[in-house]
Amino acid sequence: MESTALPNLKDMPLPELEAFIAGLGKERYRARQILKSLYQQGAVSFDQMTTLSREFREELSRRAIIDSPRIVKTQTAKDTTRKVLFELKDGNYVESVLIPGKTHWTVCVSTQVGCRMGCRFCLTGKQGLTRNLLPSEIVGQVTALKAEMPEGPEIKNIVLMGMGEPLDNYDNVVKAIRIFTSDHALGFSTRKVTLSTCGLAPMILKLGEDVCVNIAVSLNAPEDKLRSDLMPINRKYPLAELFAACRDYPMPGRRMVTFEYILIGGVNDSLEDAAKLVRLLRGTRCKLNLIAFNEFPGSPFKSPTPEAVAAFQLYLAQHHYTAILRASKGSDILAACGQLSGMGSNL
Ligand code: SF4
Repeated sequence: MESTALPNLKDMPLPELEAFIAGLGKERYRARQILKSLYQQGAVSFDQMTTLSREFREELSRRAIIDSPRIVKTQTAKDTTRKVLFELKDGNYVESVLIPGKTHWTVCVSTQVGCRMGCRFCLTGKQGLTRNLLPSEIVGQVTALKAEMPEGPEIKNIVLMGMGEPLDNYDNVVKAIRIFTSDHALGFSTRKVTLSTCGLAPMILKLGEDVCVNIAVSLNAPEDKLRSDLMPINRKYPLAELFAACRDYPMPGRRMVTFEYILIGGVNDSLEDAAKLVRLLRGTRCKLNLIAFNEFPGSPFKSPTPEAVAAFQLYLAQHHYTAILRASKGSDILAACGQLSGMGSNL
């Protein structure tokens, strides 16, 4: 059999790995041992899986592969945000961003090569979709970055907010989340994993049934006409349907849906827009993140003025909505929201 036809152990969350191992006539608990050696002991080859017998390792090496994407370039911004370019096996590229916090890092991972959602303010959206990432290619961004940084602050949060629409690659993204959150694998709490979507309403509800991580919805407009103009997905799932899905999303405990609102100069940043937004949000428990649009070469939009941003934020605060202004990290290396291109260059 050609080695390329062999399954990759890193594409399998626990249930699949158990089924695979059972298919080899071995005990199911071996699957947990394999996950531990891959994700907790950092094994990158069958030889390094020393908790398994030599015969079993040899058999595994004939039946499967262990493969992850490779870091080919890292750029560091003035604020220490790092943009990391990964090469995939078929020669495609994706980017992840490491965002510094006071005591830890947040890693923003990609879920597709390109994206077919076509949001007009987004550099990734301009490329169209090349292909979905496999679970190993999504998880591999985090494991490669963890391995790069053995010392210093840990990666404590994962946001699925890089290139691509995660809910448009649903099955692979759910498998990746299962690997992120399994105690036998990377062991992240579901509280520490956030999936960002442009608003595929039915898939939001499905996600809530399958793996209930935090969700962030990229909103960007307070009414359907403008939102449909900025984000074509709104024509399929307009705001009423999107908000119904958000309200029904079974967030455990006191967690809330986050709405991301990119303020674009002269487009959606007026006080009238803020007033419409307040009306739209009424009745939905939520948090708001405001992000000032980052211009990129060839972008049809402008950044908002600092005065417009401050006035918008103040209006929301006066109407009892806490809107955090997210500092746009890494904008000097095009690592900020909506600026990932998978080209790793100083475009
Ligand atoms: Fe795709 Fe997100 Fe960009 Fe929209 S903002 S085109 S969903 S990557």
